[in-house]
Amino acid sequence: MRILAVGAHPDDIEIVAAGTLIRFKEEGHDVYICHALNGDKGHYHIPPDELAKTRIAEAKEAGELMGAEVFTLGLSDAELIAEDLQTRGLFIDAIRRSQPDLIITHNPEDYMPDHVATSKLVRDAAFCASLPHFKTEYPAFDSVPPIYYMDTLAGIGFQPEEYVDISGAMELKAKMLACHRSQVSWMQEHDHVDLIGMMKLQCNFRGLQCGVQYAEGFISARIYPSIKPARLLP
Ligand SMILES: [Zn+2]
Repeated sequence: MRILAVGAHPDDIEIVAAGTLIRFKEEGHDVYICHALNGDKGHYHIPPDELAKTRIAEAKEAGELMGAEVFTLGLSDAELIAEDLQTRGLFIDAIRRSQPDLIITHNPEDYMPDHVATSKLVRDAAFCASLPHFKTEYPAFDSVPPIYYMDTLAGIGFQPEEYVDISGAMELKAKMLACHRSQVSWMQEHDHVDLIGMMKLQCNFRGLQCGVQYAEGFISARIYPSIKPARLLP
């Protein structure tokens, strides 16, 4: 299969879904990680232009550790509008270029507007990418892929329906998140949070719920015509 994970910011996938992507990769699937935004507002000291370059470099370094292809839509933080048609076209092309059998993205409700907008844009783009008369850079994709919503930050308001055991992937997952050095310091300064410790705690809690050491949780989006009868997650 081809798996596309779409996060709002360059570190979102590493926090709540990278363990599952590592499992997919270990099983021989192709993994693509897309960031809608360039992360240019997530710091006190590094100016936006420089920060955007830093964060893309950090994300590519993390992706290389697991062998995923990483790309960004290059939009600015906190400026994502779910109803913008041009932006929808960018999301459509993220799908058309990677031709996924399965998409992972944010839950429709999460803690900040970029995550919420990304979730809606992915949902809308997944259908519109199949319309040949919706012209973008890439040709139409001939399927509407199923979508899985990943956990929210700190798991707030999210009750997983499916779990993936990532106990064996935690070491690599933590190394991937540690590549996001600018965010480890930002989260400490802005939110007084140890980013890697928070990630491990959340995965430990999800693991507790399903009887393993570490797990990630997901909800299958009930969207016609992309629902599949079989489990798709590892
Ligand atoms: Zn984010």
